[in-house]
Amino acid sequence: MQPKRGFSTQAVHGGEPERKPWSSLTMPIVQTAVYTFEDTASMLQYQEEVHREGRASREEYGRYGNPTQHAAEEKLAELEGGEAALLFASGMCAITSTLLALLSTGDHLVMTDDCYRRTRTFCQEFLRRFGIATTVVPAGDYEALAQAVRPTTRVLFAESPSNPYLRVLDIPRAAAIAHEAGALLLVDSTFATPYNLRPLDLGADLVVHSTTKYLSGHNDALGGVVIGPWQHLKQVKDARGTLGGVISPHAAYLLLRGLKTLGVRMAHHNEAGARIAAFLHGHPAVERVHYPGLPDHPDHEVARAQMRGFASVVSFEVKGGLEAASRVVDALRIPRIGPSFGGPESLVIQPALQSYYDLSAEERAALGIRDALIRYAAGLEDPDDLIADLEQALAHAAAP
Ligand code: PLP
Repeated sequence: MQPKRGFSTQAVHGGEPERKPWSSLTMPIVQTAVYTFEDTASMLQYQEEVHREGRASREEYGRYGNPTQHAAEEKLAELEGGEAALLFASGMCAITSTLLALLSTGDHLVMTDDCYRRTRTFCQEFLRRFGIATTVVPAGDYEALAQAVRPTTRVLFAESPSNPYLRVLDIPRAAAIAHEAGALLLVDSTFATPYNLRPLDLGADLVVHSTTKYLSGHNDALGGVVIGPWQHLKQVKDARGTLGGVISPHAAYLLLRGLKTLGVRMAHHNEAGARIAAFLHGHPAVERVHYPGLPDHPDHEVARAQMRGFASVVSFEVKGGLEAASRVVDALRIPRIGPSFGGPESLVIQPALQSYYDLSAEERAALGIRDALIRYAAGLEDPDDLIADLEQALAHAAAP
C-alpha cells in the first residue's frame, strides 16, 4: 500500500496518468471535440461501459469528457478525498447542474442566507418556476436549520466560509440535520479549498467549488466542480451531458496547472489574510472585521476546529458608511476593483455597489448587506506591501 502523501505531493502528482502521450511530463491539452472508433466492436464496447456504469475507459464526444479534464477531475477528487469529480464551465454551472440533477418538482431545498447572490437567486427564483421550494435560514442558526427541513427536503446547501461575511458551517452538525431528514448536505467550499477544509471528511455528501478562484488561482480561467461519491455524481454527470456545461480543454489545463501550486499559494494566502485581518481589527477607521481567524468572529471556534487556515478574503466595515468605504477603495493602489478572489492580483469590491447594485438600501439591509462593507481579497503580493497600502488608503476614510 502507498503511504498517504502530503497535500502538495498530491497536488503535483495526484490524478495524472504516470505515462502521458509522447512521454510528455505535463498533461497535454487534448483540443478535440470528437473521438473516433477503430471499428464497430470498439464502439460497442464503449456503449456497453457507459450504459452499465455511466462512465467509460475512453472518450466519445467532448460534451461527455476529455482527457485533460479527466486528469483535473482525478486530481480534485484526490485532494478533496472524494470518489469522483465532475468539472463544469463555471462555478455557477456546477451548482445549477448539480441542483437540477438532484431535485425534482415538489422537492424542497434549505439554504443558509449568507451566500453568493446568483446561487440564492437560482434557488429562490429559478427553481421555484419548476415547483421546487427553497427555505433560507440565517447562517449559524442550527435550530432554524432543523426546523426548516420537511419530509420533502432533498438538499441542504451552505457556503463555508460564506460570501461576504465568511460564516463557517458546523459541518458535522449540519450533516446530522440533513441526514436525519434523509437529505444530502451540499457545501460550497470555494472560499476554503481542500487545503484548508475537507467537507467530505466531516460528513458532507457533496462539495462544490468555483475553480475560477483559488483552485485555478490565476484570475484567467472559469470553471466549477462537484466532488463526492459516484452514487450521487452519476446522475449529475448525466445532467451535465444534457445541459451541456462542460469545462473546455484549455480551461481544464489551466486548472490542472494551477492545482500543482495550490499548497504553496494557500499557505501564502492564509498568512496574508491573517495578517491583514489583524491589522484592520486594530485600526481606528474600521468599525468591524469579518474573518474566521479572529477570536470575535461568531464562528471562530468552529472554524478553528475544522480548518487549517482561513484564506485571504477579509470583509470589513469602514466607519462613515458607503461614501467612506468608496474613498478607501479609490485610495487603494495595489488591489484593482473587481469581483473575484483567489488569484495573484489582489481585488476589492464594495458589495453594496457591485453585486447588489440594483437593490435599494432597504432591500440590501434586509439581505444583511451593509453599506460600509468592503470585501478585500488579498492576492500573492507581499503582505507588508498590502498592509502599507491599506494603511495609507484608510487615512482617506474621513470626509475631506
Ligand atoms: N460560489 C461562490 C462562493 C462564489 O463566490 C462564486 C463566484 O464568485 C461562485 C460560486 C460562482 O462561480 P463562477 O463565477 O465560477 O461561476
